[in-house]
Amino acid sequence: PATFILLHAQGKASKRRTSHIHSRCTTFPNKSMNVAGPIRSRPLPLSADGKDTGTSVGSSSSNDVDMYLDVPSFELSLDEFEEYALARLKVLRKIEEMKTRNLPPETFRTQLDASIKANLTSTQQKHKTKLDVASHFILRAAYCRTEDLRRWFLAQECRLFRHRLENLSRSSSTNNSGLREFLANNDFDLDPVSREEKERLSDKLQKVPGGPTSPGEFINTQYYRVPFVQALELVSRRECYVEKGQAYVPLARIVSIVAAKFRVALSKSLALAAGVFGQVAHDEASRIGPLLKSMNSQYTGPGAPNAVMGTDGENALTAATVDALADQSMPLCMQQLHQGLKRDHKLKHQGRLQFGLFLKGAGMSLEEHTLFFQREFTRIMTSEQFNKSYSYSIRHMHGKEGKRASYTPYNCMKIIFGNPPQSGVEHHGCPYKHFDDQNLSALLTKLKIGSVADRDVIMSHKKDGNFQLACAKHFEVSHPSATSVDGVNLDGVGNHPNAWFSASVSYHNAKNGGGASSSSIELKQGQGVAMAM
Ligand code: SF4
Repeated sequence: PATFILLHAQGKASKRRTSHIHSRCTTFPNKSMNVAGPIRSRPLPLSADGKDTGTSVGSSSSNDVDMYLDVPSFELSLDEFEEYALARLKVLRKIEEMKTRNLPPETFRTQLDASIKANLTSTQQKHKTKLDVASHFILRAAYCRTEDLRRWFLAQECRLFRHRLENLSRSSSTNNSGLREFLANNDFDLDPVSREEKERLSDKLQKVPGGPTSPGEFINTQYYRVPFVQALELVSRRECYVEKGQAYVPLARIVSIVAAKFRVALSKSLALAAGVFGQVAHDEASRIGPLLKSMNSQYTGPGAPNAVMGTDGENALTAATVDALADQSMPLCMQQLHQGLKRDHKLKHQGRLQFGLFLKGAGMSLEEHTLFFQREFTRIMTSEQFNKSYSYSIRHMHGKEGKRASYTPYNCMKIIFGNPPQSGVEHHGCPYKHFDDQNLSALLTKLKIGSVADRDVIMSHKKDGNFQLACAKHFEVSHPSATSVDGVNLDGVGNHPNAWFSASVSYHNAKNGGGASSSSIELKQGQGVAMAM
């Protein structure tokens, strides 16, 4: 039976989704598909050779280089599932960007090392391996869908693999022990050239350009014999000696042969996965399916994009400007939170987090953030109560308390797939996802977003489950000709609320002929309307 990676979500039939739900990546032989109980599952074959390779994680890893032949088995929360995938996506997109810029090899190497270090490393080797292996398999599943996606993923993964293998070869001791260990761990069946044969071919081997430079080095170099069709890259560059259909390759040049094998195996795996992706996406329509389908269009920019700074170097978003900017430039999710806060003079925990991190990401300082929330909350409680119950969490959000982490604002996927709000009590979430059709339609009409036809398009995106497209359409109709306005960066609109906000503020500034300073922002008071649902 073939080896499968099974992607499924499991959770208690609960009111609070995220904390109870885990997405599980595991291997299953075909016959084990009948999973009892409420969990519905469908296997996704990802192993190139179809053999059941067991369930160990990264068993073939050697110094960060992995052929990814062993399908992993472990549980991930939905947050980790997305986080790991986006971490790898950043590295792969960096590779693509550097290839486009045609950077010199040394610069390429340095920048790629930095990107790997920033995104795919951890101080704990075990976590690092899990992150690397999980992210590879998640993206493999996400990028198997179309020919274009497969081609893109294959190209970037092969480059990443080669880079790591070259690093391994470079960092190994003089006898390439790291590379030898990797080859041994991954069953590379290379035929070592005996001492006698090496002596017989001594002259010819030493004439190969770029080979050992001294007799001593030649003696210490291990050569391997491989069918020349497996070493075409080396043959075409005349970097190996060929005799009777066999290529004689020094250990250090085995890299290109291994890389070619990796490409073939990954290409096969992607084709296999493509064959069953539809079934998996269908069965996982409410959880992992949409995540996988939208992965290639995910925003991977900075965690806190688009802090809106004034030309005077000050943050444009303050307790004094937030009301007007909410009406003018916030996406629907944040407008809802803002309106909820203004109406109830408080926000529940999830709402404080979603809105607070958004404000922080948009550049609101700790002092202004506290002032704004205090102003609203103290309409129903005393200052002492506010300080006791809420100011700590605001300072925590800004990294001034607890482990002093730098928390980043939520992106759309996190909001869309996070805990849904309790109707009438909570205001977090994404209206395109969490409002029913009737409420959303009423809200769009009330806000006078676009024409009737525009609103129909938005609603049809919502009904199709394309929430982010609905949001992008909202931006498009509220900011006519934004693509041709100088200084408006539309990257991430529909993928990140902060990107939406920043693009909108820049748009209005450009339209009003000013830079993005707090004093020059033209605020259209009263443009937004109360959005009580
Ligand atoms: Fe907010 Fe994103 Fe939903 Fe738009 S798609 S409303 S930015 S969560």
